[in-house]
Amino acid sequence: MTIDLRSDTITKPTKAMMEAMWEANVGDDVFGDDPTVNALQEKAARMFGMEDALFCPSGTMTNQLAIRVHTQPGSDVICDKYSHIYLYEGGGIMLNSLSSVKLLDGNRGRVTAAQVEESISPENDIHSTCTRLVSLENTMNKGGGAYYDINEIKAIRQLCWDRKIPLHLDGARLFNALVETGETPEQYGQLFDSISICLSKGLGCPVGSLLLGSKQTIANARRFRKVMGGGWRQAGFLAAAGIYALDNHINRLSEDHLRARAIGEIFGKRPEIEEVFPVDTNIVIVRLQGNISEKEYVQKLADKGILAVSFGKNLVRFVTHLDFTDDHLEAMKSKVSGL
Ligand SMILES: *Cc1c(COP(=O)(O)O)cnc(C)c1O
Repeated sequence: MTIDLRSDTITKPTKAMMEAMWEANVGDDVFGDDPTVNALQEKAARMFGMEDALFCPSGTMTNQLAIRVHTQPGSDVICDKYSHIYLYEGGGIMLNSLSSVKLLDGNRGRVTAAQVEESISPENDIHSTCTRLVSLENTMNKGGGAYYDINEIKAIRQLCWDRKIPLHLDGARLFNALVETGETPEQYGQLFDSISICLSKGLGCPVGSLLLGSKQTIANARRFRKVMGGGWRQAGFLAAAGIYALDNHINRLSEDHLRARAIGEIFGKRPEIEEVFPVDTNIVIVRLQGNISEKEYVQKLADKGILAVSFGKNLVRFVTHLDFTDDHLEAMKSKVSGL
């Protein structure tokens, strides 16, 4: 039995999800007439109380479209130094939007209103870039699945209103935060100008992300999506998986969190592990003792049938998901004890 904890993207559609896909009623989304894509977009927009939504192939695309829509060439985007939009999107802020970044040193990727305020570029100063966007990430991938206190987000929101700067959320794993805090999508919809959510992570879809925003933001994003080659015809087969996931796979994320905590406990007892980062949601990051290379350790785990990824010097990441069950967890306990 291989236990694949490299990412929550590796899940395969369940039988019921496959059936929903098989039965999808489809049209051509570039003409705007795929009924299942339209139903998914309307459903998501309604959930968040936002005006409109756009279904896209990836979370990189939804983030990059948001950045493209909110900025102009010569802008800067304020975000944490660990942000996915900065570290893991191929330099898209520069390539797609001809813009720069102001990187903040947050707490496991979470920034404060005071930090944001300090880094806003001065207005009417020809020496500096113009701050045109603040972007937060929740939960924070590189921060080990940490989630925000909503009061801090409210303070950042107020600051952004005062300074007339749009606020974007990379919510690839937002639902993981919501099941922990009990907060609702509507609460988040009120706080952001645009939100990206991934259906292909914890929600178990084969592919797909959604960008949420105002009618105008989404209309602009739809134009840039086409330019990037993201007009995708009978995407309704994929949208059907998304509708199924929003209906059936959100509440169960709390199971992933319990299993992630159990993995944290397993490694917490191992002599080769110096530190297990706090396990807040479905991501477990462990720090190895200084003399052990993470690449060798990942290989050693792989030899035992446990797949994880190296996550920087001495760090290894495990992510729990829909296809990781209690049986896998039990098997993992015995495999790890035989390391
Ligand atoms: C996975 C992820 C994305 C989007 O990734 P894609 O692979 O492009 O769908 C964006 N932000 C975060 C925090 C992620 O973990």
